[in-house]
Amino acid sequence: MKNIVLLIEDNEQNSYLATFLLNKHGYKVVAAADGPRGIELAQTIIPDLILLDIQLPLMDGYEVASALRAIESMKHVPIIAVTSYAMVGDREKSLAAGCNGYIEKPINPDTFVTEISRFLPSPPLNEEAP
Ligand code: MN
Repeated sequence: MKNIVLLIEDNEQNSYLATFLLNKHGYKVVAAADGPRGIELAQTIIPDLILLDIQLPLMDGYEVASALRAIESMKHVPIIAVTSYAMVGDREKSLAAGCNGYIEKPINPDTFVTEISRFLPSPPLNEEAP
């Protein structure tokens, strides 16, 4: 069974790159372009991990993380914040909102999937060699 990653990201290029890298390593990706849609999808698909952009329309990533954590079925799903903010305190804000970890943009194609896989209970099957 493939690990399912819910990607909540409004930037098409970032979404494309993250999806490409995750697919290449055997993850199934379900994408949402804003928080409300992501929260709705999360409850339907029950992902193994959520990648959450912080700069989003409608709700920012901190609000989305808090809302997800308030849902019983989402209490233990790893949430990784993805943000281009290089500001001090961002990491703490992400963690305080319920995120388990933090990845900085721009996405590094060489380390992205490795960073994410640390938060998953098991490695994906049919992982390709680098
Ligand atoms: Mn964004």
